[in-house]
Amino acid sequence: MKSWSRKKHVLALAYPNTEYCGVYSLGLRIISNIVNSNEKWFSTLHYTDKNNLKAENFIGFSFQYEPDYLNFFNMLKQNNIPLEKGPRQQIIFAGGPCINQNPFTLQKYLDFMVLGDSEIVMPKILEAYENTETKEEFLNEISKIIGVFIPDINKPTYAVLNNLDDSPYPIKQEYPKNLDKSFVFGKALLLETERGCPYKCKFCVIPTTYPKIRYRSYENIIRIIDEGIKMNKADKVAIYAASFTHPKRAEFLNYMLKKGIKFIVPSTKVEFLNEEIMKLIKENGQTSLTIAPEADEITRRTVNKFTTDNRFFEFAELARKLNFKKIKMYLLYGIPNQELKDLEKTIDFIKKMKDIFPNIYPSINPVVPKPKTQFDGLPFNKKILKQQAKFLKHELNKLNIDYKLESIHTAYNEYLLANSKDLTPDFFRNN
Ligand code: SF4
Repeated sequence: MKSWSRKKHVLALAYPNTEYCGVYSLGLRIISNIVNSNEKWFSTLHYTDKNNLKAENFIGFSFQYEPDYLNFFNMLKQNNIPLEKGPRQQIIFAGGPCINQNPFTLQKYLDFMVLGDSEIVMPKILEAYENTETKEEFLNEISKIIGVFIPDINKPTYAVLNNLDDSPYPIKQEYPKNLDKSFVFGKALLLETERGCPYKCKFCVIPTTYPKIRYRSYENIIRIIDEGIKMNKADKVAIYAASFTHPKRAEFLNYMLKKGIKFIVPSTKVEFLNEEIMKLIKENGQTSLTIAPEADEITRRTVNKFTTDNRFFEFAELARKLNFKKIKMYLLYGIPNQELKDLEKTIDFIKKMKDIFPNIYPSINPVVPKPKTQFDGLPFNKKILKQQAKFLKHELNKLNIDYKLESIHTAYNEYLLANSKDLTPDFFRNN
């Protein structure tokens, strides 16, 4: 079971997509930091384009996006690792947002799943691995840990880290040697300022994946910035936050600005984009902003978003006044009970935003009902979505703006994968 030929125990961490995507996975960095800080262990990193898992005995996958499930099958096949866990020698497990939402999708193939905050689960798993002799003994031992789900042995439980400051942060962040301009954030220090979101939008997986919001302390954030920039020779900081509501966000943005450290701000709740924050973002050199109005005001309320249209218009005015160049807006269609007359109001909202701020870029996506959200169990109605997409395309073309209408086919595949309880490699041949 164990890799005795090596002096240390090895955990192979696999990201089932290219290195280009995986290098910005904070989850993978958190786990590899835990493993490498333990003197008896070290971790290796693997991607679809660096897929050398043949010699590995203990492999953990991180699933951020549902389509990556199919890459998981390919990665194992390419290394001649049996998919079915029964006869397999290797121990293969997984974690990440997709597994947290639906721990049953790959249950036939995974020996166990890590659910909730991995920081408090992984050290216990490593210890159990050191102290057991067989795969069966190991699995029995870890089945007692909250946050470890082993189909046929226990039920899903979720580990919760109450205070983000209590766990070591992966300050040392290695970058690939071939990191060039095509890597979207470049050589950026990943900075998680908070985990979870205080809001409960009905379609969103965040409130159920992380049932409570936790903010990292200001002091810890500053320490991570200072040490991380120096240690990694990073040239910017990429902020990881679901809605960026950190109560001290103005303070630490200001801190970075004063020190000449560039930062990338994520999509932000418009209520939190006041003049002070927007000026800081602008001074930092960022020329575009991303917001998520989802729909017109009345439909927006039906998904638990209570921001008024007027608040968005005020924001657009301010963005124009501060000379921002672009506003990217995420919107949805296929919201339950949303009809064409409601989409007319959404188009009207887009028009009004454009009148205030001409360079808007709407990205409009079909709602994908996902497990553990408040839309869990709702159907994916392709017929209605096609009608709505046709209408939106027709109306948006009249506005003379760039926009993106997400493909219904892609969203449907995501829906099938996210809700599957029994995924197989030939899933799409049978669906
Ligand atoms: S959509 Fe944004 S604001 Fe709403 S719950 Fe999700 S992360 Fe929070």
